[in-house]
Amino acid sequence: MENRKDFFSSISRTSPEIKIIKLVDCLGVLPIGIPIGETLERSLVGKDWRLKEEKELGQALEKVEASRMGQYVSTVLSILCTQIGNHEFSKMKDGERRLVVNQMWIADVLYTYLWLRMQTMGNMLQMETQCVHCGNKSSFGADLNTVEVSTVESMAKAYWKYDLESPIQVRGKQIVGFVMGPAKWTAIDSLGSRVRNMGAMKDSLIKGSIHWLLGSDDFFPFGPNELDELRKRDIEDITERLDKNSLGPDMSIDEECEVCGKSFRTSLDWRAKGFFGISS
Ligand SMILES: [Zn+2]
Repeated sequence: MENRKDFFSSISRTSPEIKIIKLVDCLGVLPIGIPIGETLERSLVGKDWRLKEEKELGQALEKVEASRMGQYVSTVLSILCTQIGNHEFSKMKDGERRLVVNQMWIADVLYTYLWLRMQTMGNMLQMETQCVHCGNKSSFGADLNTVEVSTVESMAKAYWKYDLESPIQVRGKQIVGFVMGPAKWTAIDSLGSRVRNMGAMKDSLIKGSIHWLLGSDDFFPFGPNELDELRKRDIEDITERLDKNSLGPDMSIDEECEVCGKSFRTSLDWRAKGFFGISS
């Protein structure tokens, strides 16, 4: 794989080449897309949400443990989408659809989840928030149309480089850095109910975001403990950069407190069951 090595070794930027678009201006278009050869398949088609879908979704979600958010989201996508990229969901079995979703980028899954929410229930999301300055609790209407989406024009523009502060040994090679890029939904779904364990989350997201090891000639998916040598300082640096460089919808919004008048950042709680208004 000499070509891949040359390609990844040539990446010098430390952030992806992002284009920011308001959600209302990119409806039904995935922020990254599914790579097919050199192109990215970005189209999305959803179902009308009728009583039939409500029942189907309710039934499917009954089988999902409350704590398994990754599975919750992929179940919603697999039932409410008829097409994602080149995948015709209407012609696939339930398990096959879930598998497709797990192989999608996190950015695309979160985008699709928001988009489906808008298609079925509208763009206003009522949230309970608490001011970080004075503690005032209030109900706040967030307009999903204004959510900013970080997109890339090609897969090549999604990659960026991280130089390790402390090089590590992986499979007998001295690794001096990583080429990072989007991680797949499976990095979240595979955590199961450990999705709130920060250590496990960081490990899974960092591994899922590494596309190449600088200092090696090839690349294979990581085994369970292969990055255990990574130093705390690098872990924190990488985590911060992953956050800053993340693609897809920006789930944080600005709110102004009606009591003290100060503004603060809060995040769209896509983990809340009420996000989709499903009462099952
Ligand atoms: Zn306040």
